[in-house]
Amino acid sequence: MKTLTSFPYKRALVLGLAKSGKAAAELLLDSQISTIVNDYKADESSSEVKELKKKGAKIVIGSHPLSLLDGAEVVVKNPGIPYDNVMVKEAIKRKIPVITEVELAGFLHEGQMIGITGSNGKTTTTTLLHSFIEADSRRVSIAGNIGEVASEVARSTEAEETMVVELSSFQLMGIEKFRPHIAVWLNLFEAHLDYHGTAREYFAAKANIAKNQNSDDYLVYNADDQNIVSFLPSFKSTLVPFSSKKKVDGGWADENWIYFKNEKIMKRKDIVLVGEHNLANILAALSAAKLSGVSNQAIYDVLTTFGGVEHRLEFVTKKDDIYYYNDSKATNILATSYALKAFDKPVILLAGGLDRGNDFDGLVEFLHGVKAMIVFGETAGKMADAGKKAGIAMIQYAETMAEAVQQARQAAEFGDVILLSPACASWDQYRTFEERGNKFKEAVHKL
Ligand code: ADP
Repeated sequence: MKTLTSFPYKRALVLGLAKSGKAAAELLLDSQISTIVNDYKADESSSEVKELKKKGAKIVIGSHPLSLLDGAEVVVKNPGIPYDNVMVKEAIKRKIPVITEVELAGFLHEGQMIGITGSNGKTTTTTLLHSFIEADSRRVSIAGNIGEVASEVARSTEAEETMVVELSSFQLMGIEKFRPHIAVWLNLFEAHLDYHGTAREYFAAKANIAKNQNSDDYLVYNADDQNIVSFLPSFKSTLVPFSSKKKVDGGWADENWIYFKNEKIMKRKDIVLVGEHNLANILAALSAAKLSGVSNQAIYDVLTTFGGVEHRLEFVTKKDDIYYYNDSKATNILATSYALKAFDKPVILLAGGLDRGNDFDGLVEFLHGVKAMIVFGETAGKMADAGKKAGIAMIQYAETMAEAVQQARQAAEFGDVILLSPACASWDQYRTFEERGNKFKEAVHKL
């Protein structure tokens, strides 16, 4: 396993001992860097704590004594810890660099690094790009916000291997030297303002993905997103646009084909993944793949089979000429509106869930292709109100997912789409949106 050889700091404080904190601390200790781990809530008797102690870490749990920063040359912060945390604030005051663990991955990985960020579509695009490179029979690994800790994965990557890393704004805020050879910036909506304070700060965090790039590196960016375009003058990167709306010198589409620059890549009718937003994700992944040297055949092979990431407008099955889609990740109106826009066939919508106090009037204009609604959860009544406003004749209430799927099946005719896209969080009835999506799929397969 690789260790850090060119890391410029000898004394580190790791803040937050979740999965990424543990991986970072282990790496630092294995690299002979004196390491203190500080966590407010961790369990003193856990195996993680014991293992790190054995490796020589000093561990402080239950408080944030500022004296832990005495002598620290760098702070490695868990991405979830906000910048108004006392330790973080003090470190910044003392001008100690505060980084996150992806920065460490940058020091370890020698092969090509591809970073993907955006407010929405990160997981889909990261998965697609990883699949493209894999289908081209190249060594590739996937890490970051999508699952595995990047600095842990980077410990065992090889020099000819490509790393595809999904990056959240939380991870990007702590960037010092991290420099992906190809960066992909999907879109930029105002989000996470509770964490970042202002939109400007959030935007600036996302822009860090290209901060250290030079003209040998590529920034694949969404040319349809004015927020992103306004940032472009500050980068040295070679800029490669993608657009689902117009012809650009990168990934783009007309009614029948998708293109990279002037080259026809494949016919749109052969692409399995549905949705206008997914077309943007495809064009972004395609652009990065072409820059990385992936063959058109590999791209074709993936796009003719890839039905979406689990729970994100995922194609489940076609039974009796009825199509089933699981979009359990859609926990707000915007996400459900994207899903509804993806279909030109009649839709039976399954929706409802945790009540956050809002109404669903914003959904009404997108319900015109919906012929029936099955509503459930705390928001069932509000969801039914939105359906009535849209003039939907058939609205039914269901207690369980199995019941909802059966009702939907009864309402469906040949050629219809049955879509779970709840527009609400799942916590009123399920532990996670994944559990909700799995219950839907189970019920569909049982029909
Ligand atoms: P992330 O990893 O950024 O959360 P996902 O790929 O998991 O993104 O997609 C989550 C949801 O975001 C999708 O179900 C869809 O509703 C929406 N979405 C995906 N891609 C885009 C996009 N390019 N633009 C706008 N919304 C999108």
